[in-house]
This record gives sequence, structure tokens and C-alpha cells, in this order.
Amino acid sequence: MGSKTIVLVTTVLLCFLSMSVAYPQVDTPRSAEDSRQSESPQLSLADLDALIEDDSDEDLAEVIRGQIFDLLVLSAFLSLALVSFFKNSSTLKVVTLVISVVYLGFLKSGLLSVVNIFGLIEWNFPLFRYSLSWYLLMFFTVASTVLWGRLYCGRICSFGALTQLLDRVLPARLRFELPPRLERGAIYVKYLILGSALAYFLVTRDNSIYRYIEPFWMFTLSGSTIMWVMLGLLLLTTVFIKNFYCRYLCPLGAALGLVSNLTILRIKRWRECNTCKICEKACEWGAIQGPKILVSECVRCDDCERLYRDERKCPHWLVMKKASARPEVSKLVQIESQSTQEV
Ligand code: SF4
Ligand code: SF4
Repeated sequence: MGSKTIVLVTTVLLCFLSMSVAYPQVDTPRSAEDSRQSESPQLSLADLDALIEDDSDEDLAEVIRGQIFDLLVLSAFLSLALVSFFKNSSTLKVVTLVISVVYLGFLKSGLLSVVNIFGLIEWNFPLFRYSLSWYLLMFFTVASTVLWGRLYCGRICSFGALTQLLDRVLPARLRFELPPRLERGAIYVKYLILGSALAYFLVTRDNSIYRYIEPFWMFTLSGSTIMWVMLGLLLLTTVFIKNFYCRYLCPLGAALGLVSNLTILRIKRWRECNTCKICEKACEWGAIQGPKILVSECVRCDDCERLYRDERKCPHWLVMKKASARPEVSKLVQIESQSTQEV
């Protein structure tokens, strides 16, 4: 059995397993009404006051104890994502993606959403003591985006993980790339969707728009007919265009893309990247354009970084090897190569 088949079969089995396990559903809102009533609700100030009063006698330790298992599992998952990232391990990355779909997607339904951006606008957050996992995920997402870029998209988000896993099992011959000019414009559609959703929310204060611009509700398996039809079309398009939703449509990805302009630890480029196209062709997110990496599009999937380190493929190392055979130019090449560019 090939590795692609193993990944597919494992994912499907784990998904069915997860559906049969009783587990609290949190965070991913199903409707505006539900989002106010869910376990980690977006509460109004009046609701908060009432809750604080009701719970004043409740033992804080008891509340925290009830969330420890959830916190430990989430911490373990986030740690695995970081280990797979730091090790540039494609095997660990696949494991992380599978766990993301099963655990964060189907088991917890605990993805971040554009609804959280609406909450940010209203400064309306889940009650801290009852939502420790939510705060941990939020902190991880913001911190990792500022440090490295859209790590959340590359490894944590269950929908992104699902499409990346699909990518590994679907035949490559079905895929095609948008023409470069169209691609360059299409990446801005997600910003348009984000801006429109924010404008709609600011005018109406209705957060239910998320149902029509995000597919994350699919992990709760509850949606209207129109939502399922839209999801079917989206997944069908994803069969032909890699990471279609993430690259062109996702408002949350757009927001994280904006934040990632602040990223501190960016991918370094060799001098030879100015002319080499190997990484540009390998990037499935359209994030490399010539010598530049568009930080807002890069999800730190590591594909290009693995190539940078490949001494048999990357021209940088081939040039270094040639130079080391000629001592008179070796020193010059080493000095030049030390001046890597951050883009
Ligand atoms: S772009 Fe959106 S759907 Fe894709 S991985 Fe990021 S948050 Fe998830
Ligand atoms: S291949 Fe490189 S530039 Fe492209 S998304 Fe992955 S890490 Fe970012």
C-alpha cells in the first residue's frame, strides 16, 4: 500500500472514529444565535456581568480542572506542529495535518474564524476562566504569526490541513495553475471578502455572514442545503486548483496575511535565488515570485526550505561545491553567500 493511500485511509478512519466519540464541541460557531450560546460564547457585557455574579461562588480550581485534559491535548498538538516546523520534517507535518483534521476539526470544532475578528472589533471575548484552550490557540496563532508567519494556516487550521492532505492523494494530472497574471490578481479576492465581511458586520452587527464565506462549519456536520452545495463546489474546485480556498478566498487567511507583514523571522534566501526557479515551482501557495517571497501568502510549509538545504538540487550548494574545488574563488563565494537576503 502506497504512502498516499495510507494517509487517506488513516484520515478517513480517524474521522469516522472521531464522529463516534462524545466530546464537547467548542468555538466554531454554527449560527449567530449558537455563537452566543455555545460553550465559549461571544458574550455581551451584560451577559458577562450576570455570569460573573452567578459563578462567584464556583471554585476556580474546579473550573480549571475540567479543562486540563483539553489543554494538555491542545498543548501536545501545538508542540507537535512546532517540532514538525523546526525539524522541517515532511512526515511529522503529515501527522500534524491528520491530527488537525481529526482533533481540532471533527473532535473539537475549535477553529479560529472571521467571527473572532468581529469579536475583536467589539472587544468581546469568551470568558477567560471557561475558555483556556481558546486563549491558548489564539495566543499561539498571534505569536507564531508575528514570529514566523502563517504557521496557523500551514499546520493548525483543519480546513487547510484537509486540502493539503487531499493534495497528497489526488492525481497531479488533475491539477492546473492559474495563469500568472490572473493568479497575481486573484490573491487579493480574499482581502476583498474580508473587507466586505467587516463592513457588513459593522453596519448590521450580524455575524452569521461567516456561514457563507467560511467552510469551517463542515466539521460540525451541520449546515443548510445551500451551505453543503457551496462546500461541494468548493471541494470540487480544490480538486483542480491546489489550496483554492486558502489562496484566494479565506478572510481569516487574509487577516493572518496582513499580520504576517510584521513577521520577524522570515525565510532567508541565497544569492542564487535571484535567478533560480526551483523553489518558485515547488511552492504550492504561489508565495514565491522571482527572488521574492510574499510573506502574506507564505504559510511556512517548509517545502522551499527543504530545497534550500538539499545540496544536490539547490544551485547555491552546487556553486559552493564548485568553488571549493577552486581555492582562489572559494573565499569570494563564501563571503557573497553569507550575505543572504531576507524577503
Ligand atoms: S487560509 Fe483560511 S482555510 Fe486556509 S489554512 Fe488559513 S485559515 Fe485555514
Ligand atoms: S514553499 Fe516556501 S514560500 Fe512557499 S508557502 Fe512553503 S515555505 Fe512559504
